[in-house]
Amino acid sequence: MRKFGLKAVYLVTLTTVFLVTFVAFAVFDLHVQQKQTEEALLEEARTFAREMDAVWQFMDNSQNVINYSSAGEFDFKGLHCSVVGKSVGAIFSAGNDYTIRYTNFNPRSAMDRPDEFEAEALSLFNENKEVREHYGMALFQGEERFRYVQALTVDDSCLECHGEPAGELDITEHVKEGWTLESVGGAISIVIPIDQQRSALMDNVIRDAAFFVLLTLVIGAVVLLVTAVFVFGPMNRMKSAFSAVGSGRSRVSVSREGATRDVGEVIECFNAMAEEVRTVYINLEDQVTDRTLDLQRANEKLERQRDDLTALSARLQQEAQFKSDLLSMVNHELRTPLTAIITLAQTSLEEGGQGEGGNRGELRSWGEVQKNSHILLEMIDNMLDIARSDAGSMKAVCEVMDIGDIVASVRSTIDPLANRFRVRFETHVESDVPLVNGDFEKTKRILENLLGNAVKFTPDGGSVVLHAKCDSDSGDVLVRVSDDGIGIAVCDQERIFDRFVQVDSTSTRKYNGSGLGLALVKEYAAIQGFDVSVESELGRGSVFTVRIPASLAVADDDVEED
Ligand code: ADP
Repeated sequence: MRKFGLKAVYLVTLTTVFLVTFVAFAVFDLHVQQKQTEEALLEEARTFAREMDAVWQFMDNSQNVINYSSAGEFDFKGLHCSVVGKSVGAIFSAGNDYTIRYTNFNPRSAMDRPDEFEAEALSLFNENKEVREHYGMALFQGEERFRYVQALTVDDSCLECHGEPAGELDITEHVKEGWTLESVGGAISIVIPIDQQRSALMDNVIRDAAFFVLLTLVIGAVVLLVTAVFVFGPMNRMKSAFSAVGSGRSRVSVSREGATRDVGEVIECFNAMAEEVRTVYINLEDQVTDRTLDLQRANEKLERQRDDLTALSARLQQEAQFKSDLLSMVNHELRTPLTAIITLAQTSLEEGGQGEGGNRGELRSWGEVQKNSHILLEMIDNMLDIARSDAGSMKAVCEVMDIGDIVASVRSTIDPLANRFRVRFETHVESDVPLVNGDFEKTKRILENLLGNAVKFTPDGGSVVLHAKCDSDSGDVLVRVSDDGIGIAVCDQERIFDRFVQVDSTSTRKYNGSGLGLALVKEYAAIQGFDVSVESELGRGSVFTVRIPASLAVADDDVEED
């Protein structure tokens, strides 16, 4: 159906409906006309039959008059009912196509013998007394005619010539048939030509058909006209409007002119929709414009920020370069001479110690030089490490390490310091402490810093203990550095791990230091996955704990396999 337009569908449908109804109408009309013609012919035939019956009756009633002379003597004239009836029928039929005649199965004249249609009617009448007439279209002398046959019932008037006894001669010298009252004596047969009626019938049918065709054509034309004006017209306007909307035109509306209420409502809906689309379109355009402006502004801002970032990056690169230059300068220009000074002081002290009566004052001076150089070197190392950490270049080189080895190595550094500060220094590494994964150097620096602080902040005669053990509950390795020195107030225990934090500036001068040691301890621990904490009481000493998680412990089996 998609291939056909509404007009084509309309035409095909209307034509089909027209043809079907036309055929049905023609058949029906023909049937009705035939029926009416037959009824008219029947009525005509019945009228003829009644007229002939009247003639017959008249002749019967007039026998007493006809068959007597004026002197009152019986004088049979031969004008009995049958003869007159037949004669009137013959006269009536002469010169036209109508035929009126009498017939029975055993006629006195051979001319009255029944033909096929009449014989059929007589048989029906004899078989059933209720059937009085028989009619229909049938052939008569080779042409189709309307045939009507009506039964003639025997009455008293018939018995004189046709009654009993059979075989006796009647008044006309004919042998009596021996009929009885109420029996079927014969029939009147009427033949009516149908040419005229048939041509009238055909005229009627043709006239009706022509009227039907005309009416249908007028109705079809009106339907098409109404459809074209009230449906196709607005539809074509809508079609153009839809195309206009489809091709991007926003201001589109369809006129309601000539549209019916229903189509007008559709047009109004379309106009409302088109207006809505236009509004949405305009809003969309505005939004797109706004968004484009926003994007432009955002782009400009981003470009400005990118320029700022480029400048910042260049500055940072410069600063990084500067830092790197500074580091290498510090490393080379300060460390190298300092190491030379320490070596010189060490050599001088050794030589002075070996010589007899060495200058004590000189030795003390070399001792001070060596001590302060160590402090300076440690500060420089700390600063370098902080700088490395900031530059992100401080990395842990993890390997399997023995806490016992680290403690032994740290001892060699701390023992002289402890001696100088007259502090007792002990180390205990329990046998169940496992090997752990970590950076040997950084762990050593952690312990050196913690022990250095402990010695520094413990008065003469105090003690510093390093105790390494394995926590039975968690499996973690705990390395504790405890002292019975000056202690740290609770409020300071958090911040001492921040850079350049020293609890008491007066003590700083007394104990020396830069405030970087614990900050480095925290960072060394963090990059290895260790944790550092402090417990302390002012005036009673401090305990710093390095917790190496059990996950970093190395099982003995693994070491052996390695
Ligand atoms: P510093 O170079 O000053 O030692 P640290 O970062 O190592 O810097 O220590 C920060 C501060 O923490 C110290 O100045 C000191 O006040 C305090 N502190 C560190 N260890 C101890 C300790 N064992 N006993 C008392 N105070 C300590």
